[in-house]
Amino acid sequence: MQSIPKENIFVGSFAHTTERGELITVDHAAIYVTNGKISNIVIDPQSIDTNNENVIVLSGTEFLVPGFIDCHTHAVQLPNLGIGYDQHLLQWLDTYTFPLEKKYENEEFANRVFDAVVKHTVTLGTTTACYFASLYANASLILGKKVVKTGQRALIGKINMNSKRDDGYYETTQESIANLNKFIDDITKLNSPLVKPIVTPRFALSCDMILLKELGKLAKEKDLHIQSHISENLEEIEAVNQLFPQCSSYADVYDTAGLLTNKTVMAHGIYLTDNEITILKQRGTAVIHCPSSNTCLKSGLCDVQRLKEKGIKIGLGTDVAGGQSCSMLDAMRSALQVSTHLSFFKNNYKTLNFKDVFHLATLGGATALAMDDKIGNFTMGKEFDALVIDINVKNGYLNDLKEYTLEEKLEKLIHSGDDRNITGVYVNGCKIK
Ligand SMILES: [Zn+2]
Repeated sequence: MQSIPKENIFVGSFAHTTERGELITVDHAAIYVTNGKISNIVIDPQSIDTNNENVIVLSGTEFLVPGFIDCHTHAVQLPNLGIGYDQHLLQWLDTYTFPLEKKYENEEFANRVFDAVVKHTVTLGTTTACYFASLYANASLILGKKVVKTGQRALIGKINMNSKRDDGYYETTQESIANLNKFIDDITKLNSPLVKPIVTPRFALSCDMILLKELGKLAKEKDLHIQSHISENLEEIEAVNQLFPQCSSYADVYDTAGLLTNKTVMAHGIYLTDNEITILKQRGTAVIHCPSSNTCLKSGLCDVQRLKEKGIKIGLGTDVAGGQSCSMLDAMRSALQVSTHLSFFKNNYKTLNFKDVFHLATLGGATALAMDDKIGNFTMGKEFDALVIDINVKNGYLNDLKEYTLEEKLEKLIHSGDDRNITGVYVNGCKIK
């Protein structure tokens, strides 16, 4: 891990969003970063010594945006990226996902895959990732070490599942809790302010109520984040209702277990009822929109506007390998397309625009993860997680063939840019790409 530079001053333009999701663009500013944190922002600075080696001057085609926050992705599933989209969720899990995930008993395999995961996501501008790691605590720790070494910010979840399976891919309740406790201790010992464990029951179908309640208790005692899946697929929801007849809904299963808190993120939420949304809202629990995987696994179209109107916190996830790309730019585009598709059959539907998805990928995600006091936009006191964007890179497909406003440059990036346009990645003031 690199040491944090004592002070850097970034001079140039930047774009970010406010808590309410409004886009702010600033054409000329100086952002002072001291010991990783934003210590001052001067708009239209007059006298800056640009010869000073701490001063980083952006060119006319460059600008800064907050780092992208991937609120839901499965590190272990990277080898399946781009294959296996001929099945729906439950069959897909049995056919492609569980057999792959079982391979992580082999730590050499884990090492190779996680190396690629962290390299790819950083290259693609993901400064914070909320990872589902492995059922196996040792493999999950390998991911933790990779992330710390690279300097990415992350929440890392050792998966808990105790539903018996013929292939042996589960743990007993006792093993599950003991291994999770050890994993939490091991991650804590890495002593990185950027990397934390997250309690990760896979989903209601993989766990019984005893385990779910134990996990709820543990998260509360240790004040940890929680992540899982909810209401992704109709067949799944039916199975959850049958497995937990004493609960009134899918959300009620997690609520009964004490798993819905203001540090909980639930992926998907496509078919949540109004009652379930009310529970999530009351608990401060966020929904993570995973549009690419919802399409690839034919799960459905999540209506983000409905969740937004009801005051639910929303982040964005790539959900690899249900989703077909590790790129948050691709996730933003998938969100835009799903929203447009919804407008084809909903009257007067307000589709998401590039500013909305930019917010979801930055401050929206930070808020969903209850990390908006630290990251998500350029505010004094926050840690400097940022991307340098250049819309005119060699070998890139964007250009400056005519003059663009900063807002148009951002719009171009989100609709048509790729990782070649992300020329610098900073986390907590450290340059990691
Ligand atoms: Zn997922």
